[in-house]
Amino acid sequence: MTKIFLRKKIGLRIANGHPWIFANEIEKIDGNVNPGDIVEVYTGDQKFVGKGYINPKSQITVRLLTRDKDETIDESFFFRKIKNAWDYRQKIGYTENCRLVFGEADFLPALIIDKFNDYFVIQTLAYGIEVWKEAIVKALNNIFKPKGIYERNDVPVRELEGLEQKKGFLSEPFDTNIIINENGLRFYVDIENGQKTGYFLDQQDNRRAIEHIVKGADVLGVFTYTGTFEIYAAHYGAKSVVGLDISERAVAEATKNAELNGLSDICSFQAVNAFDVLKLWGSEKRQFDVVMLDPPAFTKSRENIQKAIAGYKEINLRGMKLVKPGGFLVTSSCTNLVSPELFIETIYLAAKDAKRKLRQVTFKAQASDHPIIWGIENTNYLKFLIVQVL
Ligand code: SAH
Repeated sequence: MTKIFLRKKIGLRIANGHPWIFANEIEKIDGNVNPGDIVEVYTGDQKFVGKGYINPKSQITVRLLTRDKDETIDESFFFRKIKNAWDYRQKIGYTENCRLVFGEADFLPALIIDKFNDYFVIQTLAYGIEVWKEAIVKALNNIFKPKGIYERNDVPVRELEGLEQKKGFLSEPFDTNIIINENGLRFYVDIENGQKTGYFLDQQDNRRAIEHIVKGADVLGVFTYTGTFEIYAAHYGAKSVVGLDISERAVAEATKNAELNGLSDICSFQAVNAFDVLKLWGSEKRQFDVVMLDPPAFTKSRENIQKAIAGYKEINLRGMKLVKPGGFLVTSSCTNLVSPELFIETIYLAAKDAKRKLRQVTFKAQASDHPIIWGIENTNYLKFLIVQVL
């Protein structure tokens, strides 16, 4: 097996358990390598670090799969890892829908598997995991006997690995418009054409957190996508709910989901640009009891972080202005590039500009089926905050 030797000062990051090895951390490669090969990694002074897959084309040259020298990376390795991931999800209370594998947090770097009851959606986001796709599908078939498996590899990040973007069936074809149950509500999930893997499971625990504050309330939900938070609000007893999204498609899905749950008389959705509408409604002095914001990442790269923060600040400032004194703001950020501290700071600055005082009700991360591994920063990505706006 090809051996990789790290530079003398092996990063503490790797020693402390981070699975990524960057090109500039490698001193020497002993042997030939092809993208996807399994290699052994050693420190400069010959101490075994782990085994992982290599892609010389990628900035993240090696991603470690194991720290155990005796563990073989084969089909049964992937079966064991996926089985472990499922055991863990069940242990913490997930049965029907969950992120079954959350990449690095399940020690399977660059692999995402979402479980929508009997259906599975996979993303293999690095060369070295792509080559194990068949083994992964086989493991899913063994463990779950699924009704269908689909790959949503239509993601630009694959190109950094020299992989094409694609999507399609990894099982017999099936109707990709499925219905899931979540906390007693039902939602259509469009596995083939929905955003990401079709549905945002990462907010599933947080959606329950709005239960008490929306009772009898006039609610505005911004960045609604398939209408999840809004439909929860209606279900929990809101008086009226308006949901906004820039995508006509999302609004059509949200409308269908409200119908599916018998909540169409309470929920309505509009396809508009949130920045424009919030500004307009602010100038009209419209007021809501609860405003919920769940914007997209605004940036995928560190270089644009300031722009993203400006976006978060603006949307929160505008949102806050629409909250009646004593009402609530429910606000999220889904990029790991904005730390929890920076997010809080941004909301605080928005409140100062809006001349409003905030009282924190709850501050959380993503749902627990997306575990956070301490020391692997990108596993801690979602911020979910509820504040009372005084
Ligand atoms: N709340 C949703 C997820 C929202 S994802 C859930 O829990 O499932 C972010 C959404 O913001 C996407 O649907 C996207 O279409 C929408 N969006 C992006 N930019 C927007 C803008 N300027 N105005 C309104 N919606 C926007």
